Amino acid sequence: MEKTSLKYLQIEACLERVLESLNPDLWSSEKIEKIREVFSSHAGLLPSWLYVEAVEQAPVAISITDANANILYANKAFTEVTGYGSDEVVGKNESVLSDKCTPRQVYRELWHHISHKKVWHGILVNRHKNGERYLADLTIAPMLNDEGGISHFIGMHRDATEPYGFEQRVSNQKTLIETVVNSTPVATVVLDGQDRVIVDNQMYKALISDLGIEEPALTFLEILRAEMKEGWNAAKSSGKGFRNREVRIDLGGHRAPRWFSCAGVWFVENDIGAGAFFKGGKRDYLLLILTDITPQKRQQEEAHINTLRILMAEEEQIRILRETLLGAIHRIRQPMNQIQAAIGLMERRGADGGNAALPELLRQVLDSGQETIATLRNCIPEVLSAPRLPVNLNQILHEVLLLSRDRLLANGVVVDWRPTPLLPSVLGSENRLRTLFKQLVDNAVEAMNSSHARVRELRIVTRVDDDIVTVDIEDTGPGIPPEARKKVFEPFYTTNGASTRQAGLGLTMAQEIVNQHHGIIEIDPGYRHGCRMRVRFQITKKRTRTEQITHA
Ligand code: FAD
Repeated sequence: MEKTSLKYLQIEACLERVLESLNPDLWSSEKIEKIREVFSSHAGLLPSWLYVEAVEQAPVAISITDANANILYANKAFTEVTGYGSDEVVGKNESVLSDKCTPRQVYRELWHHISHKKVWHGILVNRHKNGERYLADLTIAPMLNDEGGISHFIGMHRDATEPYGFEQRVSNQKTLIETVVNSTPVATVVLDGQDRVIVDNQMYKALISDLGIEEPALTFLEILRAEMKEGWNAAKSSGKGFRNREVRIDLGGHRAPRWFSCAGVWFVENDIGAGAFFKGGKRDYLLLILTDITPQKRQQEEAHINTLRILMAEEEQIRILRETLLGAIHRIRQPMNQIQAAIGLMERRGADGGNAALPELLRQVLDSGQETIATLRNCIPEVLSAPRLPVNLNQILHEVLLLSRDRLLANGVVVDWRPTPLLPSVLGSENRLRTLFKQLVDNAVEAMNSSHARVRELRIVTRVDDDIVTVDIEDTGPGIPPEARKKVFEPFYTTNGASTRQAGLGLTMAQEIVNQHHGIIEIDPGYRHGCRMRVRFQITKKRTRTEQITHA
């Protein structure tokens, strides 16, 4: 600022007023004069004594050396950090501070830098006057003379033993945690608040390639949130987390489903961002542990399938018995209808052809026939009504495929199983629905067999559209001609001719089961490669059952 500038003059006048108003008891005339001198002689620049004081009082150990590191000056903080008074070190080399355990290479680099007029910054091991070692976080800057040569060095250092120890402890803890997490024999991940994986272990990495999913943790999160609903937030806010949540991953195709037992716990970390320095802040993390329980579940499933096999064999016997009895009733009814018609004819004509006993005889035959029908009807085993529960059709179809495995293999049928990733449940009877889909799969195999199809492919697709779950069962058999597409659902209608063992009641039963579940079953008229049976059900409004995740 120029001494003649208006601003300078204004400030000077202002300063004069302030100095005049100072209490002479508190402010000596020398002090006031010094202030005046500082202001007027430097016109806004600081006086040299202030620089000296600034260095002297700086809270960092400062030393000034000649070009050979011989100490010329050391400030107060230098004494505090090193234990040496200024008078003890002036004239000595900075090496007096060395603990002699810093590698030579470090000094070589230090000198290489500073002798090339560059600032060096690094850590050296120093020894305090009392003999204790400490870490010196040191910066050395060369000071140049008018010719551009090095005249002095200024060294500034602080004791970094404590922060280094702290850093090391944090680093050791991190290594320890990483080692523990890595050696954990279950897939483990830590996710941040934005569902980003920030720590994972070897088992999790193995899971990525195993499942063929880019970030399996996200898939698990999606399922767990869908399953737990409000429970998810409750588990988070209570701090208790969750455990033993079973998740099924259906990989589709020829790959067997996998099961995992999931546990999760949230933890909070202080935000270390600069923005949170004054405000504070917390970050949520989720530790997710995924234990593969597939072997145990497979054993359970094997046992379950064996039970189902027995159950379905019994049901099959009952079904055959029902069909046989219904078939017998159907057969008896045909001649009885004719007898009934003959009696009616005779009565209308009033002629008995000379044999009045004939209508009576026919009536007796009719009565006995009806008795037989009634007896047969009483013998038809009842279909027990099962409780309605939310059912996952992916699970049912998977079981049907397992139940049909031997038959499919024996007939050389290739299965293309394409479950939809997230299938909501439908309300129904597991047994009845299993019987329905088993029937449709059996029909498909039978159709491909009877037509001696060269390509034998069974494709099962599940899909969700709005509130509707659709299951397509496609085969590469001869298909069903348009004129027969309604009739096949009628009792005793069969496209397989008289030679077949089928009574023509399978699709009737399928229709009945679909009706009981308020669904729709139809033959897709647009399908050209065989037959596509399409079954549709309304999804359960309240999603109370596990939704499955499946990946084709
Ligand atoms: P020395 O024989 O002194 O030096 C070891 C190596 O340094 C030699 O092999 C040589 O390559 C190089 N070297 C030494 N002197 C020179 C020179 N004048 N020109 C070019 N290369 C040279 N050391 C500490 O241990 N602790 C400190 O806190 C510390 N503070 C320092 C502050 C300043 C401002 C400066 C300039 C140096 C400081 N040093 C410090 C370095 C110190 O001067 C010594 O170099 C170091 O301590 C090693 O000492 P020594 O006796 O073991 O080996």
